[in-house]
Amino acid sequence: MSDCLFCKIVAGQIPSKKVYEDEKVFVFQDINPQAPIHFLIIPRQHIAGLKEASEADAEIIGYCHLIAAKLGKQYNVEDGYRTVLNVGPKSGQSVFHLHLHLLGGRDLTWPPG
Ligand code: C5P
Repeated sequence: MSDCLFCKIVAGQIPSKKVYEDEKVFVFQDINPQAPIHFLIIPRQHIAGLKEASEADAEIIGYCHLIAAKLGKQYNVEDGYRTVLNVGPKSGQSVFHLHLHLLGGRDLTWPPG
């Protein structure tokens, strides 16, 4: 999508601090980190959000979670990390390209607020 911020990050048109990439996903450091580890895992393909996703997107959404687990291990936060997928403006979703937050490296409180 030509006017999507995260599509532009995937395409390298907007700089980001890349953490990982493969043929399906791109991962970068959140520009406003809420924890010592705060990565955004995004599908390369544009999906606006979870409520816009279809069954055809099930594999990539699952894959994003497996990448979170892989990075959680790689960055030594397996004692406690959190994945967050905000859905809709009232949840705090501000970018409408599906993204999974990976937060770790500090004690995470519950409920998240
Ligand atoms: O879930 P939500 O849509 O609020 O998350 C968007 C995230 O994208 C925010 O945490 C924000 O800091 C991050 N962001 C970024 N780089 C940008 C714009 C937003 O990392 N250029």
